[in-house]
Amino acid sequence: MNQSYIALGSNIDEPIKNVQRAISELGKTNKVIASSSFYLTKPWGYLDQPDFINAVILIETIFSPYALLGQLQALEKHMGRERTIHWGPRSIDLDILTFNDETIVEPDLVIPHPHMLERAFVLAPLSEINSDYLEAYLKLSNESRNEIQRLGLERL
Ligand code: ATP
Ligand code: CA
Ligand code: CA
Repeated sequence: MNQSYIALGSNIDEPIKNVQRAISELGKTNKVIASSSFYLTKPWGYLDQPDFINAVILIETIFSPYALLGQLQALEKHMGRERTIHWGPRSIDLDILTFNDETIVEPDLVIPHPHMLERAFVLAPLSEINSDYLEAYLKLSNESRNEIQRLGLERL
């Protein structure tokens, strides 16, 4: 069985519900082993947009990395995501952070996710469920760590 960490983000149309729904949908075809708290985070890349809700889950999956990516993209589409502005507002964004300990570098799939070690909104929830990433999180600047706020109540 494969293990994969998935990052979830949403900043339009009831973001908390979107992230909860995506986790429950992913749980239908994969086994959700762990789920982080939810975080309220400042936008990254393209700043003129609402704050995000972010979380990370660990799943066990029988699918290959590409099949999993296809599943994530189908769910994004199903949940109404429209691809307009890069790093812009979205109803749901689902990124594969890691897949077992594999490295994949293809035009449409890069694993580990190339930006994961520089994003507080990924490392904070990820290090909650895998303490190996705590060191990377603590290396981030105070400024970037202050851009996120943990929401206690949303842990599933
Ligand atoms: P970022 O990748 O910097 O977080 P983004 O999530 O906004 O940006 P998208 O528009 O959602 O970017 O995705 C663009 C493309 O990234 C997708 O079509 C997909 O093929 C590709 N991609 C490459 N690596 C991954 C990965 N590990 N997980 C998800 N998508 C990936
Ligand atoms: Ca992303
Ligand atoms: Ca994405």
